Amino acid sequence: MPAPFRLYNTLSREVEAFTPAEPGKVKLYFCGMTVYDHCHVGHARAMVTSDMVARYLRHRGWDVDFVRNYTDVDDKIIRRAAENGEAWNELAERYIQSTQEDFRALGLAKPTSEPRVSTSMDTILEMIGTLVERGHAYENEGSVWFDVASFPEYGKLSRQKVEDMRQPDEAVPGKKTPVDFALWKAAKPGEPSWESPWGPGRPGWHIECSAMAQATLGTQVDIHGGGLDLVFPHHENEIAQSECAHGGELYARYWMHNGLLTMASGAKMGKSEGNAFGIKEVLQVFPAEALRIYYLQVHYRSPLPWNVDALPDALGLLSRLYEAKENASQMEGTEAIPAVIAGLGKDAERVVELASSFPEKLYAAMDDDLNTAKALGMAFELARAVNRLSNHKKAKKRGGPIAKLALDAFDVLAEALGLLQLSGEAFVEEVKDKRLPPLGLTREGVEEKLAARVAAREAKEWDRADAIRAELEEAGIQVMDRPDRVEWRIRLDVREEA
Ligand SMILES: [Zn+2]
Repeated sequence: MPAPFRLYNTLSREVEAFTPAEPGKVKLYFCGMTVYDHCHVGHARAMVTSDMVARYLRHRGWDVDFVRNYTDVDDKIIRRAAENGEAWNELAERYIQSTQEDFRALGLAKPTSEPRVSTSMDTILEMIGTLVERGHAYENEGSVWFDVASFPEYGKLSRQKVEDMRQPDEAVPGKKTPVDFALWKAAKPGEPSWESPWGPGRPGWHIECSAMAQATLGTQVDIHGGGLDLVFPHHENEIAQSECAHGGELYARYWMHNGLLTMASGAKMGKSEGNAFGIKEVLQVFPAEALRIYYLQVHYRSPLPWNVDALPDALGLLSRLYEAKENASQMEGTEAIPAVIAGLGKDAERVVELASSFPEKLYAAMDDDLNTAKALGMAFELARAVNRLSNHKKAKKRGGPIAKLALDAFDVLAEALGLLQLSGEAFVEEVKDKRLPPLGLTREGVEEKLAARVAAREAKEWDRADAIRAELEEAGIQVMDRPDRVEWRIRLDVREEA
């Protein structure tokens, strides 16, 4: 069994030792996307967080049942579809496809199950029926409301007093008290509806997740996650619904919430704020792993500022890891490690020290409430040591056995955190594909300049050759003269014009 894993529980506001209900098995439910638009970098942080926790726990040998839903019946979807003159379900399907495309591009592991509201109607109706039967919900003119007064623990997650709470649908008539929330909304003309014992209508937002979690994972989940903005009312309401429907059984043993992306001014990121930054736009000009490293370089619970330098900086960090991976993979030799250290000295010793303790230290950081920032810090330290060793003139010939330890460490990083999934060469090519257009360059253009430089050198026109090189460097291209060829790559300290 894995070593103790500790997780911050929003319910207790403490980092707790993690014990799932069933030894070795983790039931993980993460609130997914409401599909009325394309994903932006704010959503992706939550999705990468869900991927990170599922991926890490699986890597550590837990059997993880990972459920992430799609909310495909919702006010925003219906409103957007009406604006477009499109059927609501066609719009939702279109955005589910778009979202799945984004998730694949982001390298997210596939959940065990991805339920949708539109295909979970039976469970939703059954759960609402139970709540009505047990006196936790009441019907009024075809709508069903959750009776907050019937659940004294209401507010335990967000730690608010009922009298201080405001539900978003507070002004809707038909409720006993303003804090009651909708489980079932009576059909309105022009809106999609389903038959129910209370007449035609559609489910409220919160009941969807309670019902989908029950249908896929049972009455209790081990970890329930989502963005910090979901604590109230969404997760508070899920607790009320599920615990009342299940006779008081604790709904989620641990609640995990990722911090939100903030704009430089401190304003929240979101579509309604008009400052969204789409995943498709971002991944057109940056590798997906740059975005992942940008998220993972801070603790998942911290707010994460978004600014214009965020991704260029993250790409710079990522490229250092790839450079180390590439350098290590080029080292050869078959001597015993002590002989290699004797030959290459202190830098070699340092790589051995960092690489051989890497998995243990990475697990210690990650077992402490998923401290990806600390884990990445150790990876950068190892990368620096490898890159330093590679400057040693005998490293390529003799460093192999030591480099193998570093490569094993990078494999652990790859599996546990989803980074370094490409070969060094493939990474360099991806960076070229994505970064040349924003620099206003093309591969052909660069190759032409390099050919002109070769011609100048052959003609012994050294000044002209140097001028071409300087021009390329200025434009953002690093030129590297190898004994048998000229290589080039994108200079990662250069940023495109704002
Ligand atoms: Zn949810």
